[in-house]
Amino acid sequence: MDSVICNKCGELFFPAEQRLQQIEAGDLQVQFFECPYCLAKYQVITTDPMMRELIAARQSWQRQIRLAQGKHFRQSTIERYEREIEKIKTQQKKLLPALKRRGAEVLRATEEDTHGREETV
Ligand SMILES: [Zn+2]
Repeated sequence: MDSVICNKCGELFFPAEQRLQQIEAGDLQVQFFECPYCLAKYQVITTDPMMRELIAARQSWQRQIRLAQGKHFRQSTIERYEREIEKIKTQQKKLLPALKRRGAEVLRATEEDTHGREETV
């Protein structure tokens, strides 16, 4: 990943060098990284149980495809697996915008908490 400029403090940093962190809020898992300068949080992906199921299903079809390729299955079989993955991608795309919004709310709430703590130190 390339460098980004933090929206909050304007410093340049490399997201790939930041540790991926996770917050759980109810059934949501919000993955994010922080700006190393001001600790602003940047969402990577937010998942709920449905989305996690879809991710697992997609990984399992991808494994099936690798296996099928290794064993030289018919191309039509592999294409059928690929269509399954496309269906899952479509479902994921529908879920993503709402999850992203909810994830942003979770991160905003924790940032306000951290901010409060910093001020009392
Ligand atoms: Zn920053």
